Amino acid sequence: YTTAAAFENPITPSVKVNYTQLLINGNFVDSASGRTFPTHDPRTGDVIAHVAEADAEDINRAVSAARKAFDEGTWPKMTAYERSRVLFRFADLLDKHTEELATLETWDNGKPYEQAAKVELPMISRIIRYYAGWADKIHGLTVPADGPHHVQTIHEPIGVAGQIIPWNFPLLMFAWKIGPALACGNTIVLKTAEQTPLSALYAAKLIHEAGLPPGVLNVVSGFGPTAGAALASHMEVDKLAFTGSTQTGKIVLELAAKSNLKPVTLELGGKSPFIVCKDADVDKAVELAHFALFFNQGQCCCAGSRTYVHESVYDEFLEKAKTRALKRSVGDPFLAGIEQGPQIDSEQFEKILRYIRSGVESGATLETGGERIGDKGYYIQPTVFSNVKEDMLIAKDEIFGPVQSVLKFKDIDEVIGRANATSYGLAAGVFTHDLDTANTLTRALKVGTVWINCYDVFDAAIPFGGYKMSGQGREKGIHCLSNYLQVKAVVTPLKDPAW
Ligand code: ADP
Repeated sequence: YTTAAAFENPITPSVKVNYTQLLINGNFVDSASGRTFPTHDPRTGDVIAHVAEADAEDINRAVSAARKAFDEGTWPKMTAYERSRVLFRFADLLDKHTEELATLETWDNGKPYEQAAKVELPMISRIIRYYAGWADKIHGLTVPADGPHHVQTIHEPIGVAGQIIPWNFPLLMFAWKIGPALACGNTIVLKTAEQTPLSALYAAKLIHEAGLPPGVLNVVSGFGPTAGAALASHMEVDKLAFTGSTQTGKIVLELAAKSNLKPVTLELGGKSPFIVCKDADVDKAVELAHFALFFNQGQCCCAGSRTYVHESVYDEFLEKAKTRALKRSVGDPFLAGIEQGPQIDSEQFEKILRYIRSGVESGATLETGGERIGDKGYYIQPTVFSNVKEDMLIAKDEIFGPVQSVLKFKDIDEVIGRANATSYGLAAGVFTHDLDTANTLTRALKVGTVWINCYDVFDAAIPFGGYKMSGQGREKGIHCLSNYLQVKAVVTPLKDPAW
């Protein structure tokens, strides 16, 4: 790796943190308890700001506001076109405030500023525009039922949506969640992750400037077992959307079932295979496999974290993968040209280092990396393991860090079996120009997304979600709309059965 930055002197961000309270009913307010919690800069571990800490009482307040905005407010009743115009104006404001938003994102999360500003912010406004475009195109059907009945369906918003998001893509997850829910006419209480509360508060302020009525979107900062659990188990929340770990997904699903059986969509963990076939152009395969794993400091639910390489290209691949990891530029994420910043927090940092130790202890070969960088903040060397076997923890668990595990395979049937031998099923990468191989793998892999000769393509129109314990339901694209709609069947007798 190349350390392009002076770790000793972190760059001072160019924006101020203006919004730290809870956004309830269109106003920034303190928490009922008056409590706050610190959010940290992953470059140093220093406190950036203290934000209001929501607990059950605040969730009650936020849900009441959302309930009132849904039951009595203008949002579900305004024309779909007017709703779409609010979202389009919001997207324009997101574009206009890219610098402030991307700065907050990098500061709070540690991701490279260039990635936040040039890759993520455009995706964020794009998905809002995508769903803005859907708002006035959602409609029911006339159904050709047997018998003398006129049958229609009406698609109605489901009500108050509770949304819980993680810290790895704070603003992108915010946009994936609120875009479809708002387009369908719902109201929302969204809880950000405790590690990254800042950017969503800023964006929520912007959507009110764009004309969103108060109470339609409420944004709260707080912890999972308190604020998150209160939201998941709330009797007045009609739908829950969650992105996070599989372990927490099980908890919120149970809370939803035990309370009011609100439907739940879950976008959870993964251990996605990236399969390099024997015909691969090794240089390209190395680059793509590197990107698939190391993007966003390895903190992606769909990271290509099991790199399967055909034995005929294995040695060459490994040598080049190691060289590529050594070239990765790690440093202050505010610097231009930086590919990798710090991990999110000390907990994740320690966990990743534990996994690295376990890889070594279980007999995998540490090709490069394995240590922290510097003595403050949460930087970890880009790490590559070879000789990884399926029974090792590093091949089974989601590490969520910059640790690539390379496994050797002989033939396609074998790699299909090994790739599918996991309780996860989020995504897979396939690297081959052989059409039959690509088709065979695509059909056989039990995953929600197959990227062939590409990876992490997140267009707004492409559905995303998991098989098996990687989740339930889909986000993005047309499929996400149904998560936020009720279908009402309307049946009327026909006077003249012939018509
Ligand atoms: P991670 O381990 O990556 O932090 P989590 O699944 O714990 O992932 O966190 C994702 C989101 O779920 C965060 O907003 C977090 O606060 C929330 N969360 C964590 N625990 C719970 C819980 N018991 N109930 C509801 N939400 C929770």
